[in-house]
Amino acid sequence: ADGEHFSNHPPGDFSLEAVRRSFSHALDTAPTVITGVKKRISNISTNEISTRLNEAVNAIQNAAAAWKAASNAPRRAEILRRSAGIMSRRIYELAAVQVLEVGKQWDQAYNDVCEAIDFLNYYAAESEKLFSPRSLSNIAGERNSLSYRPRGIAGVIAPWNFPLAISTGMTSAALVTGNGVLYKPAEESAVTGRLMYEIFMEAGVPAEILHFFPGEGEVVGAALVSHPRINCIAFTGSKEVGLGIIETLSRQQQGSAYVRSSVTEMGGKNGIIIDSDADLDVAVEAVLYSAFGFQGQKCSAASRAIVHESLYNEFLNRLTAAADSLIMGDAVDPGTFLGPAVSPEAERKIADYIAIGREEGREMLVKDNLAIFADIRPEHRLAQEEVFGPVLAVMKTESIRQGIEMANAVDFGLTGGIVSRNRGHIDLVREHLEAGNIYINRSITGALVGRQPFGGFKLSGQGTKAGGSQYLLNFVHPVAVSENM
Ligand code: GLU
Repeated sequence: ADGEHFSNHPPGDFSLEAVRRSFSHALDTAPTVITGVKKRISNISTNEISTRLNEAVNAIQNAAAAWKAASNAPRRAEILRRSAGIMSRRIYELAAVQVLEVGKQWDQAYNDVCEAIDFLNYYAAESEKLFSPRSLSNIAGERNSLSYRPRGIAGVIAPWNFPLAISTGMTSAALVTGNGVLYKPAEESAVTGRLMYEIFMEAGVPAEILHFFPGEGEVVGAALVSHPRINCIAFTGSKEVGLGIIETLSRQQQGSAYVRSSVTEMGGKNGIIIDSDADLDVAVEAVLYSAFGFQGQKCSAASRAIVHESLYNEFLNRLTAAADSLIMGDAVDPGTFLGPAVSPEAERKIADYIAIGREEGREMLVKDNLAIFADIRPEHRLAQEEVFGPVLAVMKTESIRQGIEMANAVDFGLTGGIVSRNRGHIDLVREHLEAGNIYINRSITGALVGRQPFGGFKLSGQGTKAGGSQYLLNFVHPVAVSENM
């Protein structure tokens, strides 16, 4: 069964004084950690990317035979578990760095490290299943077997919003299946990315097998994607970049004898339906957390609340009042619910969408970068485009069918959900909502490894599920052997 040897790392319990004290202490020392890491990164030249890429590819090639050997599979799983052990010992440090580097709130930064640990333990367990012999149907005189080989070299292009978790998930999946990896962290979270790289080194990944490539997406990311010896790209980020990657990979390249493949996890325009009989306490809390947690900077974030007309005004008023009372400020302060976006550029984009919202809808609340607009209709830009910030569009529906139709009237299909007491309506959503992750009577973010395998379809991605039992298949070639006895 899935996740047989796996259980999730417990989230941080911030009601405990010891936990708060450890976190606060880690925040005091994090600036020193960051300065040290930055020094180590600054030695890496971001020029001559193609030379460095070729060197790394050659290094992998030379070490690949030992690393990818079928007999080495248990060792690779062991290295993942060792990495998980190191992360769990350093959990406060790894979380505190994220608070300073990307402005993640304490609890969410802590949970990001938990998720990284989960990916390591989960993929270690999954790799043990993948690389154990499996029987096929046999007839007398014929012996059949199916086994898996690594694709070769993977390029990992990671986002900044889950700076440790998503980097660790993609990298560890590629490593544990026997591939070499060229890892590019997001520019905004290169320090966290570097810490992950160093933890893998400490845990025993050979230096020839894993390579750290900081730099700009347009330069380093593009070079990884167009390198003919990189057989597979794991990417999490925007739809535009993801589609560009798929397009580049699909062209046959001089020097490559493979169909170069990708795992792409792209954007969302996620809708949460508030049904006519919804418990508004549940609805308001679910929408607040899904829309504004970490400033809405999650592809899973709720950016549309699709509300039945019978409680539309009441929901709007309660939501607005609740949002108005959220504490806003710097993430270093544990009391804040949300704060500034990751960069001035991101703040500008959010401000642009707030201006659009003022034209398209009815302004309920604008407070710094947080905004709620009512009366948004499906054709509006605020109902269609991913903002990646704390801007919520509220839309009115007349029926559950119309609500589902509205929720589906976007190019994306990542997360979504319903708050309802009506079993029939819940079943309609379960069957017809176009989203890879559907949540009922709860927030629509926060997928847990092994429990809510994460990833969408439509223009949100190719249906690959991070933290699910099929994820490792993205990094291997299956080989069937039939022997005539
Ligand atoms: N896995 C995260 C969640 O379920 C979202 C990941 C992302 O934003 O890329 O909330």
